[in-house]
Amino acid sequence: MDIEDLARRVIAGERRALARAITLVESQRDDHRDMAIALGKAVAGTGRQALRLGLSGTPGVGKSTFIESFGKMLTAQGLRVAVLAVDPSSSRSGGSILGDKTRMEELSRDPRAFIRPSPSQSQLGGVARRTREVVALCEAAGFDVVLIETVGVGQSETMVAEMSDLFLLLLAPAGGDELQGVKRGIMEIADMILINKADGELKPVANRTCADYAGALRLLRKRPEDPKDFPKAMTVSAVAGDGLETAWEEMTTLADWRREHGHWDLRRAEQSRHWFEEEVRLGLLARLSNSAEMRERMQALGNSVAGGQLAPAAAAEEMLTILDARG
Ligand code: GDP
Repeated sequence: MDIEDLARRVIAGERRALARAITLVESQRDDHRDMAIALGKAVAGTGRQALRLGLSGTPGVGKSTFIESFGKMLTAQGLRVAVLAVDPSSSRSGGSILGDKTRMEELSRDPRAFIRPSPSQSQLGGVARRTREVVALCEAAGFDVVLIETVGVGQSETMVAEMSDLFLLLLAPAGGDELQGVKRGIMEIADMILINKADGELKPVANRTCADYAGALRLLRKRPEDPKDFPKAMTVSAVAGDGLETAWEEMTTLADWRREHGHWDLRRAEQSRHWFEEEVRLGLLARLSNSAEMRERMQALGNSVAGGQLAPAAAAEEMLTILDARG
C-alpha cells in the first residue's frame, strides 16, 4: 500500500481514500498499525481544524434524529460534516448501535456528509484511541465539523469529551424535579445541555426541564475559559428542526470566544498530551499481554500472590523488572 499516495488522496478529500484510511487505522494487525502511524504523520501538518463536537445522550433521547437534522442544516450551509461514534456496547455485542447509517438515512446520502460507525474493538479504550486518529484523518480531509456520538453510560462520555472542542449533552423532557439521574460529573463537562423533543405536547415539560438544568448549571463552578453565560441549557426539537440554528449559533459563539482568548489552543494542547500519555500507557499494557512469555509470567506471579507466597506489590515490582529487562 502506498501510504504517501493514500495521504494525498485523503487530504484531497476523496471519500473512498478516507474510508480506506479509517479501515487501516482501525485494524488490529501489527503491520497495519505501522502503516497507520506513517499515515498519521503524512496527513499531519495540513493545519486544518474542524470543530469537534462531542454528543452524548441515553438511547431514545433522539441522538440520531438530532444528528440527521442538525447535520443537514450544516451541510445546507455548505459545511462538510463527519459523524463518528464511540460505542461502549460494540465491545460486547460486536455490533454498533451508534453512527449507523440507517439511523441517519438522509444525511448518509448527503455528499457533504460522511458517517462512520464505531470501530468494534474489545476495549472501550481501544475504541477511543482509534477514534482520535479518525478525527485527525477527518480534519486532514477538510471536514468543518466532526461530530462524535456516544451513549450516556460509563466512561465513554468522558472519553468523548476529552477528544472534543465542545461537549453537548442531549436530554429528553422529564416530569418531576428529578434531574434525570444525570451525574454531576457529566454536568461539569457539558458545554451545552440540549433538551430535545420540545414540540407538541412535550413542549411545556421540555421548557420546565430546561429551566431546571439551567438552574443546576448556574450552581456549578464557573469555568475561567468560558463567557459568563456558559455552560447553558436550551430546548430543541430534532423532529421539527426548532432551535437547531440557535444551538449552532451558541456553539460557534463559544468556540470563537475560546479561540480569541487562547483557551481553544490550550485545550487542544492538553488533549494531545493526554492522548500521548494514554498511548504510552496502553502500549505498555499491550506489551504485558501481547507476548506469551509475559502472559505466563503474569499468570505465575498472580498465582503466587493468590497463594499467599508473594505480596502483590512485590510481585508487581518483579513483573516490571522483567519488563525492563526485555527493553
Ligand atoms: P437515539 O436512540 O438517541 O438515537 O434516539 P432516536 O433518534 O432513535 O429517537 C428515539 C425516538 O424519539 C424516535 O421515535 C424519534 O422519532 C423520537 N424523537 C427524536 N427526536 C424527537 C423530537 O425532536 N421530538 C419528538 N417528539 N420525538 C423525537
